[in-house]
Amino acid sequence: MRRRPLHTQCCDKEIDMKYISTRGGVAPIGFTDAILMGLADDGGLLVPEQLPRLSDDALKAWRSLSYPELALELLALFMEEDIPRDELKRLVDSSYATFRDPHVTPVVKLRDDLHVLELFHGPTFAFKDVALQFLGNLYAYVSRKTGSVIHILGATSGDTGASAIEGVRGKEGIKICILHPHGKVSRVQELQMTTVQDDNVLNLAVEGTFDDCQRIIKELFADVPFKRQYHLRAINSINIARILAQTVYYFYAYFRLAEQGHAGPVNFSVPTGNFGDIFAGYIAKRMGLPVGKLVLATNENDILARFVASGVYQPGEFRGTYSPSMDIQVASNFERYLYYLYDGDTGTVAALMERFKSEGRIEVPQDMLRRVREDFAAYSVSNEECLDTIARYYESYGYLLDPHTACGVAAADKRSDEGEVTVSLSTAHPAKFDEAIRLRNISQVYPEPIQTLFGKPRRVTVVGNANDQVKEQLEAFFG
Ligand SMILES: *Cc1c(COP(=O)(O)O)cnc(C)c1O
Repeated sequence: MRRRPLHTQCCDKEIDMKYISTRGGVAPIGFTDAILMGLADDGGLLVPEQLPRLSDDALKAWRSLSYPELALELLALFMEEDIPRDELKRLVDSSYATFRDPHVTPVVKLRDDLHVLELFHGPTFAFKDVALQFLGNLYAYVSRKTGSVIHILGATSGDTGASAIEGVRGKEGIKICILHPHGKVSRVQELQMTTVQDDNVLNLAVEGTFDDCQRIIKELFADVPFKRQYHLRAINSINIARILAQTVYYFYAYFRLAEQGHAGPVNFSVPTGNFGDIFAGYIAKRMGLPVGKLVLATNENDILARFVASGVYQPGEFRGTYSPSMDIQVASNFERYLYYLYDGDTGTVAALMERFKSEGRIEVPQDMLRRVREDFAAYSVSNEECLDTIARYYESYGYLLDPHTACGVAAADKRSDEGEVTVSLSTAHPAKFDEAIRLRNISQVYPEPIQTLFGKPRRVTVVGNANDQVKEQLEAFFG
């Protein structure tokens, strides 16, 4: 078994930050190559070869930084070899200048033991903006610097598409095409995508489901000559830049509690789908942030909660819920966690993923499961519990949770250990999911930027559920 040191001491400037594949089949590459590669060439996912470990002094010194200042310090650890600090500062500053709150991701106290980290103050009112505003600027920078053509192709069930489009609209050197299932995304999500008028944006509404959209994308990416000819790049949450950008708000939230006199570890409760957001919290913990438990909240699609309970990772039956961005059976970032769980043993990760492909399940032994439970607690939240939680918090605190956030808060409440302080991540503004909230007779006023979407002209092309029809559109658009 091959083990490698997973940490270096911060902020030792001798670190030469490289990225490797969880399956061990890619020679170490730099940050720019890693983001352009997307999925690793051996089918694995890219991870930093070593994680910086922050000293107590660094943690203390960074406590008073603004969000963009903190983001600059943290991101520089991972990408300074490729992006000079002054360039990185410009990218970070312009990425977070689009947020409506001066704190970017403010923390709201509901009780002494429960705080909400609001991640929805970006352009599309969902947490994906935190990473995708940055990734959009990063792609534009890479395109400028290397002269490479960036054509982004992605599928969305709603939030990612809106956020990705918002991240690159109007940017030179970049075009983006997003597939969404026709008539199957929320009203606000659809308007956010289709009312964008920039010529570098193409919306394709596929007559099918989200799974159909994903299958088409996967097959087009697998067509290597096509992918090369049209310079296709991915934007989904397997992109390591997204994970790194998301570690920042864990630090930022911790520092806000520390400012209020809180000492000691903090739990984070995270509404989870593809394991991207919560994995960023796990990285923050491994970098030295005093995180207690990472509370993994799922909806009725509970593969990850079952894994933490039993050590078996096996998809169940798909359930439609009020939190559609978490309606996921196979969590694409889970492989990254396996890499760390097995101390960087890429051979074992490759074997486990091979078994998952052939047998449809993975089982980890008891000693490994104990390690999982040192870091994670997991709870699944039913549809009824989700709506109940929205109603209860609205009545008790006058605070309106979106259905995804409600799953996180419900999971935090299921864990009512004395003396623990939990920060629950709020991943979307309630206005994005009004259809569910109205079921409990709660009416809300849309924020002005959402309200104005209703009067705008829309640009969208409806296509059949077939690769050829999509290909034809892409050839015309990217060609
Ligand atoms: C994408 C999304 C999630 C799930 O995040 P993962 O990183 O996939 O775990 C949760 N809530 C909302 C609103 C989302 O858009």
